[in-house]
Amino acid sequence: MANPLTPDVLLDPVVLTRALVDIESVSRDEKVIADCVEDVLRRADHLSVRRLGNTVMARTKLGHAQRVILAGHLDTVPVNDNLPSTVVDDLIYGCGTSDMKSGVALALHLAVTLPDPRYDLTYLFYEAEEIESEFNGLNLVAQSHPKWLQADFAVLLEPTYGLVEAGCQGTMRVRIRTAGRRAHTARAWRGVNAIHAMGEVLRRLEDYHPRTVTIDGCTYREGLSAVRIDGGIAGNVVPDECSIDVNLRFAPDRSEKQALEHLQEIFHGYELEVTDSAPGALPGLSAAPAREFLAAIGLEPAGKLGWTDVARFAALGIPALNYGPGDPALAHAPDEHVEIGKIRDGSATLYRWLAP
Ligand SMILES: [Zn+2]
Repeated sequence: MANPLTPDVLLDPVVLTRALVDIESVSRDEKVIADCVEDVLRRADHLSVRRLGNTVMARTKLGHAQRVILAGHLDTVPVNDNLPSTVVDDLIYGCGTSDMKSGVALALHLAVTLPDPRYDLTYLFYEAEEIESEFNGLNLVAQSHPKWLQADFAVLLEPTYGLVEAGCQGTMRVRIRTAGRRAHTARAWRGVNAIHAMGEVLRRLEDYHPRTVTIDGCTYREGLSAVRIDGGIAGNVVPDECSIDVNLRFAPDRSEKQALEHLQEIFHGYELEVTDSAPGALPGLSAAPAREFLAAIGLEPAGKLGWTDVARFAALGIPALNYGPGDPALAHAPDEHVEIGKIRDGSATLYRWLAP
């Protein structure tokens, strides 16, 4: 197959977005798109290129004091009768338009058209972001080629609708169990009802007042929610077991350990089993490239409420934020689309920031 990412296509981030969208690349099926991207990058003399699986890394070696990573995933969620792309007025429709081939297009366009950026740049086009993290290309690179990720600052071109979303909240899920004694409900006084015993846990959840925390100008709203409850044996049995799953979304000024201590305080007297946990990421906007990025955008950053790969960079000590032209509300939706104007704005902003 001839590479659809021709020199003409690469010159226009809008045309490039469509070309990338039209290379179908559902998670675990990114070989074709990775081949096309690698081929394009290898033709640029100012870049040195490496590949791991279907993740492609390219970087400049200009000897600048600071290095910035621009990263985007190549995969999409399964196609939903929304390929090939279509254009209606100012909108490009199709699987991956928002999440996140419009972002990938901005980075790839820069990679081939900006040979002399003001920082050294590392471009990372990675596989399998939309599925379990054992397949995640960024995760695999961090494990096997951590040097590829050495940088002072990273921008993930995930959909933010042109806003800056810095850091991200952590998440922890715990299970709380109550125990009782089975009995026939006709002689309920002989038993102890484990579901009733859960009432106290529910009351503490209802009485909880989550914090709102501002860090580096970014506001994070925490949340504590029961997400599942199990209990009950039969219509005539006093149940002897009940369990509840609780999810805490915590601001990045708490570590996972502190998040657990907080939960232990709230649910004092109960044993907690941690079933899932991922740390948050501090916004880290004090590094020089980050400050200059914010100046180029001219917008105040907002805190990212969900968990994103920004946290993987934070775990490596690299401040990172999300900035992309797509609308996050449209990600994974059958009518997924991106505004052409947002692609043009995003491209102009990145040039303002990175051109010498
Ligand atoms: Zn995404």
